[in-house]
Amino acid sequence: MTVNEIFYSLQGEGRWTGTPAIFVRFSGCNLRCPFCDTDHSVGFSITEDELVRRIEDLSPARFVVITGGEPSLQLTSSLVSLLHDRGYFVAVETNGTHPLPDSVDWITCSPKFDFCDGATLSLPRIDELKVVYRGAGQNMSVYDSIDARFRYLQPCDVGNLIDNRRIISETITFIKDNPTWKLSLQTQKILDIR
Ligand code: SF4
Repeated sequence: MTVNEIFYSLQGEGRWTGTPAIFVRFSGCNLRCPFCDTDHSVGFSITEDELVRRIEDLSPARFVVITGGEPSLQLTSSLVSLLHDRGYFVAVETNGTHPLPDSVDWITCSPKFDFCDGATLSLPRIDELKVVYRGAGQNMSVYDSIDARFRYLQPCDVGNLIDNRRIISETITFIKDNPTWKLSLQTQKILDIR
């Protein structure tokens, strides 16, 4: 498998915010989202056993977040089993276009079909749906039919303080009007951590 980076931090977003987590960022993605800000294109080759050793050496935490790029292109049942054997909870962050091993413990899906051609959702199970909100007027009805245990709305960071404040305010208004959604903040940016 090809990995872009492995690092230890706190989960910044969504249901597990604040949880100490080892992040494994797989290289490569099957989509080309116009706003993609993730540098996942480069990477190094590593075996599953070596990857697990690197994870164990990095921290005493037992929470692993597999992310990308698009991790479903590389994640195997055998890697999930190796992690489970060592007591890890395995969470995955995916665009939802590609199947995942059934054995993963937590699936966070950020669908991209709203703005990216070919990003059709094809997951039988989603634990956490995470949608970036760009402000009032965004068509949220496209998410109505998606079944997920939790629905998180995250204000889009457009890099401009005034617009960001407006988007945060509109996100809160939307959630209050549609209380099946909860607020997710990018606390890693607020705290200036990874
Ligand atoms: S799915 Fe994620 S990693 Fe892939 S191009 Fe889109 S934003 Fe980037």
